[in-house]
Amino acid sequence: MGASRDLSFAEMVQEQSGEPVQRCYFCQKCTAGCPVAYAMDVKPAQLLRLIQLGEKEAVLGSSAIWLCVNCQTCGARCPNQIYLAGMYDALRQMALGEGYAPEPSVYALHRSFLDSIKMWGRVHELTMLMEYKMRLLPKPAIFFDGLVSDLMMGGGLIAKGKISFVPERVKRLKEVRRLYETNSPGTEVEP
Ligand code: SF4
Ligand code: SF4
Repeated sequence: MGASRDLSFAEMVQEQSGEPVQRCYFCQKCTAGCPVAYAMDVKPAQLLRLIQLGEKEAVLGSSAIWLCVNCQTCGARCPNQIYLAGMYDALRQMALGEGYAPEPSVYALHRSFLDSIKMWGRVHELTMLMEYKMRLLPKPAIFFDGLVSDLMMGGGLIAKGKISFVPERVKRLKEVRRLYETNSPGTEVEP
C-alpha cells in the first residue's frame, strides 16, 4: 500500500455513491453494528479510512466490498449520516469497471438472480439456484461446499411445496426486460 495512492479516489467514491465519505472520523460505530463485519477482510470503518487515504487498489481489490448485505445498520448508527450500503454498491461497480475480480460466490448469486428475473419476470428459486451452482462449477472448492445439505434442503422445500418446480412467467415480461436494456446490470466478468 502507499505507492499507488490515488488522491482523487475519495472524491470519485463520493461522486459515484452520493455518500459524504470525507466526513468519516473513524468512530467505528458502523463496524460495531455490521452483521457481516466478522467475515470481511477490511472492516467498514477501515475501508472508509483507506478510501480517504486514496488506497484504491486495497479497496477495490478487497473481498469486503462484495459481502455487504445492504442492511443499512451502519447508516442508522453513523453520526455523520454516511450510508455505507450505497457506497459499497458504487465500489462494486467501480471494481467491475476496472477489471478487479469479484468474490465468486457473491457474483454468481447476483448474476443468477438477475438472469432469473430477466427470464421469468420474477425469481424462480429452483432454476436460479441451479444456475448459481453451475456458475460455481469452475470453482470446485466452493461448488462442493455444502452441496449435499443444499440438495437435501432443496428437495425438502420442493416436497413441501415451498418451492415451485415449474417456473411461471409474469404477464408483462417485456416491460421487465426493457429495464435491463435501460439499466444494464453490467457485462459478464470472469470471477
Ligand atoms: S460510523 Fe460513520 S463516522 Fe463512524 S467510522 Fe463509520 S462511517 Fe465513519
Ligand atoms: S449496510 Fe453493509 S456495511 Fe452497513 S451494516 Fe449492513 S452489511 Fe454492514
